[in-house]
Amino acid sequence: MPSTPDTALRIALPVPLPRAFDYRPPAGMDVDAGWIGCRVRVPFGRGDGEQVGVVVGVGPAEGGGDGLKPVLERLDAAPLLGGELFESLRWLAGYYHAPLGEVLATALPGPIRAGQPLPETARHGWALTPAGLAAAAAPGRDGKPRRLLLQLAERPLGEDLLDQQAEDWRAAARALAERGLAERLVLAGRPEPAPALPGPPLMPAQAQALAALREGEGFRPCLLEGVTGSGKTEVYLQAIADCLAAGRQALVLVPEIGLTPQALARFRSRLGVPVLAYHSGLADGERARAWTAMLRGEARVLVGTRSAVFCPLPEAGLIVVDEEHDGSYKQQDGIRYHARDLALVRASKLGVPVLLGSATPSLETLHNALSGRYRHLRLGQRAGGARPPAVRVVDIRKRPLRNGLSEDLLEAVGRCLARGEQALVFKNRRGYAPVLICHDCGWSAHCKRCDAAMTVHAGGRRLICHHCGARATPPNACPDCASLALQPQGAGTERIEEALAERFPEALMIRVDRETTRRRDAIEKHLADFGDRSGILVGTQMLAKGHDLPRLTLVAVVGVDEGLFSADFRAGEKLAQLLIQVAGRAGRAQLPGEVLLQTHHPEHPLLNTLLAGGYPAVAALQLAEREVAQFPPYAHLALLRAEAPTEGDMQGFLREAREAFVAREGVQLNGPMPAPMARRAGKARGQILLDAAQRAPLHAALHDWLPKLQALKSARRVRWSLDVDPTDL
Ligand code: ADP
Ligand code: ZN
Ligand code: ZN
Repeated sequence: MPSTPDTALRIALPVPLPRAFDYRPPAGMDVDAGWIGCRVRVPFGRGDGEQVGVVVGVGPAEGGGDGLKPVLERLDAAPLLGGELFESLRWLAGYYHAPLGEVLATALPGPIRAGQPLPETARHGWALTPAGLAAAAAPGRDGKPRRLLLQLAERPLGEDLLDQQAEDWRAAARALAERGLAERLVLAGRPEPAPALPGPPLMPAQAQALAALREGEGFRPCLLEGVTGSGKTEVYLQAIADCLAAGRQALVLVPEIGLTPQALARFRSRLGVPVLAYHSGLADGERARAWTAMLRGEARVLVGTRSAVFCPLPEAGLIVVDEEHDGSYKQQDGIRYHARDLALVRASKLGVPVLLGSATPSLETLHNALSGRYRHLRLGQRAGGARPPAVRVVDIRKRPLRNGLSEDLLEAVGRCLARGEQALVFKNRRGYAPVLICHDCGWSAHCKRCDAAMTVHAGGRRLICHHCGARATPPNACPDCASLALQPQGAGTERIEEALAERFPEALMIRVDRETTRRRDAIEKHLADFGDRSGILVGTQMLAKGHDLPRLTLVAVVGVDEGLFSADFRAGEKLAQLLIQVAGRAGRAQLPGEVLLQTHHPEHPLLNTLLAGGYPAVAALQLAEREVAQFPPYAHLALLRAEAPTEGDMQGFLREAREAFVAREGVQLNGPMPAPMARRAGKARGQILLDAAQRAPLHAALHDWLPKLQALKSARRVRWSLDVDPTDL
């Protein structure tokens, strides 16, 4: 189509406005649908401001082409965001009521978003020179260079494959290169399959799951439910191998702390093709390279965290979402998407199976499986004959606690150490103690800027607010009654570590929480260093996953109770998931595991149900409660949040927001109400909750409401956001 004078390019820009912008094509250039999905550089804003945007449409300019500014530069010869990915991102923008330009920008790795050319993705490899080939045929002295020489004599090898097979091949390669025997070169084409380690023969339940997954064609959502160690990953690996054999690409999503070197190494050694990792710890350039390698079809398998869900899959064959219930799949600021849900949408548009794996499926997914929308594949027992751990409740009512630990628990740790094994003491609270109180009048140390107690740290020498980071020195005397009886109340990981060190001075011990372990790879290093030596691990949720610990036989959970009485309707589900997850770390085939739950509420229905029937029983109970109370998955929610320095501004906005809402059949508006933490970091916080039995009227209501919210004058004095399917209320 030759462009007429009024042909315009519709361009989505990364700005918080829910519309695209029209521009004139660059002088003398014809435009056609091939421009859609390409990046362009355009003038934007005042002066010589520029933005990089993505072409989302080509057509006659609205109101004629006069006065349109021209596109400055086309940055891609072929669409970056083509076909399915473009459609899925459009869906995302619609579903989360977010500006398309911001969605597209979120999907692109930093450098690409900024308009840089696509990175070089050529693979480098090593091959022998004629002299090298001759040397390989002649006898020689064994050693690493010699072994590499013999390997390369069979065929040139890519550096990615060498990385997968041997840790320190680089020195050997340099040695060969210095002697003129080998050279580094750019490899053309696809990576050639490398020898993959065979997997174990599948157990019947695994074979059945795989067979069910192979059945049929096109989009097949499947829930693979099985306890930790039941062999889910083995099923993923076989399914990915199928997908690769069919010449297709696979995407594997893992939770934030699931992408360990150990896990990557397992995928790499078993699949025989380069496996790319994608996570927030990578440098921008590496992310851009991985993304581009998938776009070009050069990479075949990508394993990554939440944002990996945006990688191009031009030759998709399978999407796996491991630990699909994990909270880290939900983005909690900016575009608040759920990566699992986007994975489902992508798989449906791509027409490929999607495998959701979990020991403790989210109630949303479980509901879909139970109602027949997803295939429900189950793995019964742990592989290799490992028995489930024995779970025991330690009733601490009227028992003396020393620094939060009962004698029962300490004795169990002692027995575990005496056997030369590892114990994990789990407390989901970092710091020394959750609160500092006055024993005489009940005063407690609160943050000045938040509705929250300050956590005691450094053995009582410091107070820190976990919500805004404020720090303070504990007072010497109670500010209210001048009593000197100020005491840290309760125990966090720091105090528990201290108590355990006192009781077991000889034991090897490490603590893993956000203070001791700021970086994710540091957890990995901590645990790897621990290895299979006997000792004690103390820590938070960070310990629930990650590096496999083969000698871990005792898991002691301290402070189950905090999760039992929360206002959040998801608290029961989350607590059960966490308990099952951390309990799943205990025990192996040869070393049976034991789990202790220390609680003041041994009769609590959630604990009883969990002990008697495991997660499926808890899930059934919770689903029944949600159905009665009309909570998800039996209803759909959207949350409008607002915060402002003053209570008045925040409330004023929410009041006007409520007035601007156009009533719609089937949609209830609740609020304004205070947020669960009504003040944080000095800001007043409130919210309005919409709920509806059906999605369609809810989305229609949001569609009508949003432009009105944007137009409110009071909106300029608050920070507000809309969260569709919020996971923390
Ligand atoms: P999950 O992903 O459910 O936690 P994995 O796939 O990691 O389970 O399996 C747990 C352990 O059992 C691993 O060490 C794995 O190698 C082993 N395993 C899995 N399936 C089999 C099988 N069919 N035969 C023998 N060992 C298996
Ligand atoms: Zn006091
Ligand atoms: Zn604070």
